[in-house]
Amino acid sequence: MSDCEQFRELYESAALGALNDAERAAFDAHLATGCPTCTSAMEEARLLVSRLAYLAPEAEPSSMLKGRLMRTVRAEARAPKRSAAPFWLWAGVAALLLISIYSGWQVQRLRRELSDLQAQSAAIAEQRAKLEKERADAERTALILADPLSIQVAMPQPAEKGAPPMRAYWHSRLGIVVAGVRIPAPAANRTLELWLLPKAPGRKPIPAGFVRPQEDGTFVLLVASPAAAPGETKALAITDEPEGGSAQPTTTPRWVGAIG
Ligand SMILES: [Zn+2]
Repeated sequence: MSDCEQFRELYESAALGALNDAERAAFDAHLATGCPTCTSAMEEARLLVSRLAYLAPEAEPSSMLKGRLMRTVRAEARAPKRSAAPFWLWAGVAALLLISIYSGWQVQRLRRELSDLQAQSAAIAEQRAKLEKERADAERTALILADPLSIQVAMPQPAEKGAPPMRAYWHSRLGIVVAGVRIPAPAANRTLELWLLPKAPGRKPIPAGFVRPQEDGTFVLLVASPAAAPGETKALAITDEPEGGSAQPTTTPRWVGAIG
C-alpha cells in the first residue's frame, strides 16, 4: 500500500495523458503488478475524463473523486512542474470543453422546446379557427333555415327505395342549405355533391360543394357563396361522386329540385 501513496495524485494526470516519461514508466510498472487500488482508481479517473469530454451534463464526479481532484490540483500548485502540460491546464481544457458542450446541448434543448411550443400553439390556433368556422357555419345555417325570405326547394324522394327526400333553402345573401334526415351513407370513398343547373341553354352544371351524411343519417350542406343566383338557376341536383368531389357529374342525379 505504501507503494500506492506515490501514485495517489497521478491518476487524473495519467488519465489525461499528462505524466512525464519517468512518472509514466514508474506508474505503468506499478500497474503491471496488478495493484487493485491503483487499477480501480485509474478506471474511475479515465471514466471521469471521458465523461468530461463526451457526457458533459451528466458528468458528476463522486465526492471522493472530487476530493482527490482538489488534492491533485493543490499538489500541482505546490509541486514543481513535472510535465510540459500541467494538470491544471488539462483540467481547464476539460472544463472549457464541458461548458461548450453543455451550452451547445442547452441551446439544442431550448431550440427543440421552442419549436415544440410553436407547433403546439399553431395546432391550438388551427383548432380554434376550425371551431370558429363551425360556429359561424352553424349560425349561418340556422339563419338561412329560419328566414322566411329563403326560397324553399323540395328535392323529392328519388326513384330508388329507402332514400327520403331532401329540402334546400336558398337565401339571396346568406347562401344555400340542403338538408335531409335518414339519408343512407354513400359507399366508402364516395360523397354527395350538389349542382346548380343553369337556366341558360347549353350551360354545364355548376359544382356547389359536397359532404357525406353524418353517422345518424343527418345531411346538412351549406353553400355560403353559390356561383349563381336563384334567378339564373333552374334546378338543384345531388349526385353520388368520388371522395373529393367531381368537376362535372359522373352519375345520374339522385335528388333533383326545380326552382320557382
Ligand atoms: Zn497501487
